[in-house]
Amino acid sequence: MAIIGKDIDLAKEFLQNNQLVAIPTETVYGLAGNALDEKAVLSIFETKNRPSFDPLIVHTDSLDKLRRYVTEIPEEAQQLAEKFWPGPLTLLLPKKDIIPDLVTSGLDTVAVRIPNHSLTLRLLATLDFPLAAPSANPFGYISPTTAQHVNQQLGEKISYILDGGECGIGIESTIIGFVDQVPTVYRMGGLAIEDIENVIGKVVLMSHSSSNPKAPGMLKSHYAPRKPFFLKDRNEMSEMSDDTSAYLLFDRFIEEIDKKNQRLLSPSGDLKEAARNLFAFLRELDAQPVDHIFAEFVPDRNLGKAINDRLKRAAAID
Ligand code: AMP
Ligand code: MG
Repeated sequence: MAIIGKDIDLAKEFLQNNQLVAIPTETVYGLAGNALDEKAVLSIFETKNRPSFDPLIVHTDSLDKLRRYVTEIPEEAQQLAEKFWPGPLTLLLPKKDIIPDLVTSGLDTVAVRIPNHSLTLRLLATLDFPLAAPSANPFGYISPTTAQHVNQQLGEKISYILDGGECGIGIESTIIGFVDQVPTVYRMGGLAIEDIENVIGKVVLMSHSSSNPKAPGMLKSHYAPRKPFFLKDRNEMSEMSDDTSAYLLFDRFIEEIDKKNQRLLSPSGDLKEAARNLFAFLRELDAQPVDHIFAEFVPDRNLGKAINDRLKRAAAID
């Protein structure tokens, strides 16, 4: 099993030897390796069982270091970086040759982010290479938001898990790219579109498709529990209530249903709290002795949009 701890020097040692280390971020835990070394990057794909057409996000701790990896930072990207980094925002920028093609699945842009977690920022500051880090879960399953989640699924395959506690945001970063210089949302995530538009004005939403080569990795089925998972509204749920199902709800229980099979994402109706609980509760319900999981949508604003996106993808619907 992996060692779980807070030892930055030990994490650094593993990474320098091309081994993988799980790292905490404010979004979800990442499975990190030296982004400049093809062997380390290859082992990230293998460990996660991730298809090679799904590119990785490269993490660093300063804009100065970032300039070593990208050829250009457009004006809007600079504005967003200054406003929201460190934070749950990933930018797609034209890559320099130093970034292996394996990291970007052959694309000429690289996804970059400065994450907001003190342990990981301290680790990045001691390294002379950036970290490629996708979520630290088997490909397609629910993303991990605690060191224990990582250990349950990848503990056998990795050396070290840097334990930074529970992730504060709880869903993946928002990804912004520049298509013909137009700021475009590739993935909704932990930074609300509304907050981004307050800084750079209107952005375009890219549509998902499992066959859209511009958005590799934006597969329709993702973040999914093992149990059959369906989206329903509350009325439908209360009519079909039975002991063989579990229910993921926003802020109110359904009276007709046994409470032990229900989880409330945020009893006070707070979308940030809901995002923080989403993946942990999906895991809990997936481990219950039930045959199905049902969920309702949350209000479709701010982080609610990213939560609903994850729910749709867990149910594999458009
Ligand atoms: P993850 O690290 O698991 O949260 O996933 C990273 C996601 O970022 C991928 O699944 C892609 O959807 C997206 N991504 C990374 N690099 C690029 C890129 N160069 N162009 C478009 N999307 C990217
Ligand atoms: Mg992922």
